[in-house]
Amino acid sequence: MTAVLEVRGLRKNYGDRAALDGVDLEVNAGEVVAVIGPSGSGKSTLVRCVHQLEEIDDGAMYLDGELLGRKRTGTQLRVLPEKAIAAQRRRMGMVFQQFNLFPHRTVLQNIIDPPVLVHGTPRAEATARAEELLAKMGLSDHAAKYPRQLSGGQQQRVAIARAMATRPRIMLFDEPTSALDPELVDEVLKVVRDLAAAGLTMVLVTHEMAFARDVADRVVFMEAGRVVESGPHLFTDPKTPRLREFLERFSR
Ligand code: ADP
Repeated sequence: MTAVLEVRGLRKNYGDRAALDGVDLEVNAGEVVAVIGPSGSGKSTLVRCVHQLEEIDDGAMYLDGELLGRKRTGTQLRVLPEKAIAAQRRRMGMVFQQFNLFPHRTVLQNIIDPPVLVHGTPRAEATARAEELLAKMGLSDHAAKYPRQLSGGQQQRVAIARAMATRPRIMLFDEPTSALDPELVDEVLKVVRDLAAAGLTMVLVTHEMAFARDVADRVVFMEAGRVVESGPHLFTDPKTPRLREFLERFSR
């Protein structure tokens, strides 16, 4: 079976510092992979590289077996033109810490713009899909509002609906609750949990340990740009002292 996402030997440097120092990751269809680790360990850089928001320095990434960002011709690897990269990016949905909604577009417009303007989906079809997503997320009453009229939790749910509107192969979440007031975290986690239960393939960078333990099929623990440990039982059976230490800090 081809993995939905495959990352091999990924390296990313900022100046002379390696933010990613040879990362491997595989995500199969329907799998929920949580990425945990201390601040600065490279979690966010990893998903940003997968979404091709960052240039990589070495390694390879594949979406449904297709090489991302490069084209192999004979023995040579060439960087794909931006248009081709954008087309690959459109097959993934990304949710950021900051919701990144367009302030002058309504909730409904924010959700239907990507499918209509970028994918060429008929407006009626995109609207039906948006309404279905809004209903699932308990936001039907807010379709005509502007982002500033919503709470942070509601805005983040709209951002998730927007990322889902184009039916991505995989969803990438980069700490989707870290910019929220504590009382708004649960409503966003519930939406992510529902998507996981519905069988969506996802990579979830999070510092919500209880949540990661509950929803993830597999957990990846990163430190200093490397995957230190990964597997389905990281929370109950950590193998490395580093992970044990990290988890203890969270359970205190
Ligand atoms: P995490 O998501 O685990 O907190 P990041 O991926 O944000 O970690 O960061 C990994 C490392 O890369 C850190 O040392 C961070 O300071 C560095 N880094 C991230 N983004 C940039 C950037 N745009 N410019 C320079 N250094 C960066």
